Amino acid sequence: MTAHRNYIGGEWVAAANAAPDINPSDLSDVVGEYARASKIDAETAVAAAKAAFPACARMTPQARADALKMIGDEIIARKDELGRLLAREEGKPLVDGVGEVVRAGQIFGFFAGEALRLVGEKVASTRPGVTVEITREPVGVVSLITPWNFPIAIPAWKIAPALAYGNCVVFKPADLVPASAHALSEIIARTGFPAGAFNLVMGRGAEIGDVLLGHDDVAAVSFTGSAATGRKVAAAAVAAPKMKKLQLEMGGKNPLVVLDDADLDLAVEAAANGAFYQTGQRCTASSRVIVTAGIHDRFVAALTAKTKALVVDDALKPGTQVGPVVDASQLDQDLRYLAIGKEEGAALHWGGERLNRDKQGFYLQPALFVGVDNAMRIAREEIFGPVAAVIRVKDYEEALAVANDTPYGLSSGIFTGSLKYAAHFQRNAEAGMVMVNLPTAGVDYHVPFGGRKASSYGPREQGRHAVEFYTTVKTGYVLA
Ligand code: NAD
Repeated sequence: MTAHRNYIGGEWVAAANAAPDINPSDLSDVVGEYARASKIDAETAVAAAKAAFPACARMTPQARADALKMIGDEIIARKDELGRLLAREEGKPLVDGVGEVVRAGQIFGFFAGEALRLVGEKVASTRPGVTVEITREPVGVVSLITPWNFPIAIPAWKIAPALAYGNCVVFKPADLVPASAHALSEIIARTGFPAGAFNLVMGRGAEIGDVLLGHDDVAAVSFTGSAATGRKVAAAAVAAPKMKKLQLEMGGKNPLVVLDDADLDLAVEAAANGAFYQTGQRCTASSRVIVTAGIHDRFVAALTAKTKALVVDDALKPGTQVGPVVDASQLDQDLRYLAIGKEEGAALHWGGERLNRDKQGFYLQPALFVGVDNAMRIAREEIFGPVAAVIRVKDYEEALAVANDTPYGLSSGIFTGSLKYAAHFQRNAEAGMVMVNLPTAGVDYHVPFGGRKASSYGPREQGRHAVEFYTTVKTGYVLA
């Protein structure tokens, strides 16, 4: 099998090493062989991006908009093929894979429009005869580092604004999901950006991370991944003398509060969706479900029934609701936390068994812990698997306190029929995103995405707020 190549300086470039991309639903299915970039490949990509920067910055907004629109249109036109590829390599159900591909296309469409809408300000000076003009300019070469759980949407929400505002990109996808990244890059490569404006370096963070984070010619780094890697990224990219512009999107331990007056069916649906869909492998997953005493037993009974009925199977099989865990090491982590929860005294109410299906894959039954104390590790640490921890509280005040008692602050949700509690929760939840009567996962693409505390660092991603990270402000003074 010939390995798919990296895209550097406008050419498809072979690497000395390659690795197989394995389907987690069927371990005998190799999606393809993909290049593993070396440090030298990464340095070549940074040099190509630097060389292309003057041409990128000079591209007219119309040319950028046209190219981004072309990318978005092609992604959407090929949604079934690309969605299938994504589901095959990552393990999310086909319907979610196709949905994610459409989302990626929409994001490119959105930023095609934004390329035309970059505005500045003209301000009267405090001095006679002087005018002040505040404009935005691209930052330069940006390194974009993405995780495996959204193999095309997260790359899209970094690459699209980077190119829309005139930057040059070095893109490193997660090594578990190179196929979606390669397919996306193959589309971008045909759409009219100058050679070197966009570079793909598939490879391991441990191998090429230093170059992407610390190279003198990299101006900014946008990273999405775990909090542990995020800390390393910050140390490498921000510590003097590097001092890169930095954006980090990291983990979550998102609470979903269910009050006595909640619509039980909707709350159960949202909890099952938030905790188990996409195998719980979402940064916005509802991993803590905080339930007040009056509804607790009814809620647990209904959520258990719902959880038992979930269809766990091959991502490509019609009817699958929960696909496999992404790989062996994530499965080990999930099983380890199941053991930790039991050792800590939580009751494993349902699930957590390894499952056999027609094909050999990383199948795990969704797991529901009850009687969880918020101090337990299963309530504090991100598991990133199909594991929900139900925490019983006496009233709204305790629910809010428990919801906020976490190192993370990405998404926070509440189910209630009370406007008073909903409004209070929206104001007081210590999270970047607050959901009322909606799952903690599932967001719009045209508005800011991000969190607080250990979940995020730096300016927000997505929507018009993306301009903060992907541009730098210039204040011009003119005496005329
Ligand atoms: P990860 O931290 O292991 O890897 C993320 C990326 O960083 C990968 O491309 C990896 O190769 C790269 N990397 C690893 N070491 C590096 C280094 N030393 N230098 C540079 N790059 C390096 O995360 P993951 O397992 O791919 O993804 C799961 C995590 O991502 C979860 O914690 C999840 O919550 C988080 N996530 C966050 C968001 C968000 O927007 N907040 C969205 C999706 C996923």
